[in-house]
Amino acid sequence: MFFGLGILRGMNITLMNFIRSYTRKRGSGEIGALTTVQYPEERLPEKEKFRNFPFLIYDDKPEDLRCVACDICAQDCPPRCIYIVKETDEAGKPMKKPAVFDIDFTVCMNCGICEEVCPFDAIFMDHEFEIADSDRHDKLLYHRDDLLKTNEHFHKIRPNDGREVDTRLAEAKEAKAKKDEARKKAAEAKAAAKAKAEAEKATEAKEDKPPETEKESDPQ
Ligand code: SF4
Ligand code: SF4
Repeated sequence: MFFGLGILRGMNITLMNFIRSYTRKRGSGEIGALTTVQYPEERLPEKEKFRNFPFLIYDDKPEDLRCVACDICAQDCPPRCIYIVKETDEAGKPMKKPAVFDIDFTVCMNCGICEEVCPFDAIFMDHEFEIADSDRHDKLLYHRDDLLKTNEHFHKIRPNDGREVDTRLAEAKEAKAKKDEARKKAAEAKAAAKAKAEAEKATEAKEDKPPETEKESDPQ
């Protein structure tokens, strides 16, 4: 084997990259080209799979957030930077909705575990990264309303995942509707059978009843 071939190949790659750095359109994000850009004036186009801090997703209105405050993400978050308190109704009964959903972004390590463990597709990793602030408590402790973002936003930053999640949710909704319908029909059939049995029982009881004897006339 020719000695120094690897070195020559490496030098060739370095030379090609050097030439490309003058010919490539800056900020194009072209694959194989050098990726240095003049940030913040220049930015690479957002790439799918890029992840940073989590956000809570909602469908139509902010009240329709998917989170049911099950606390799974908070329990599984490695640095425990998620804090959730369930909303309660007038009787004080806990509801499937967070009254408080805080994430301390100074502690979050961008691992994405909260997204992976959420069984309700309610929390996803965002592309947002320019959140630096010196006010650690007021600006970097994100509350529920700061974390809310639309499903459209999710589709914009992660179109493939957005489609996949929508399909999964639509299938689950359809399966649930079918299950509810089957349960409703079974309950109706059961109620009808019960009513029929009661009606038959009442008829039998009426037939078995001895005829009433005529009252003896009052001898006066
Ligand atoms: S984001 Fe998901 S895992 Fe976390 S509390 Fe809400 S529903 Fe549960
Ligand atoms: S990304 Fe990781 S560290 Fe950050 S909130 Fe989610 S689970 Fe916690």
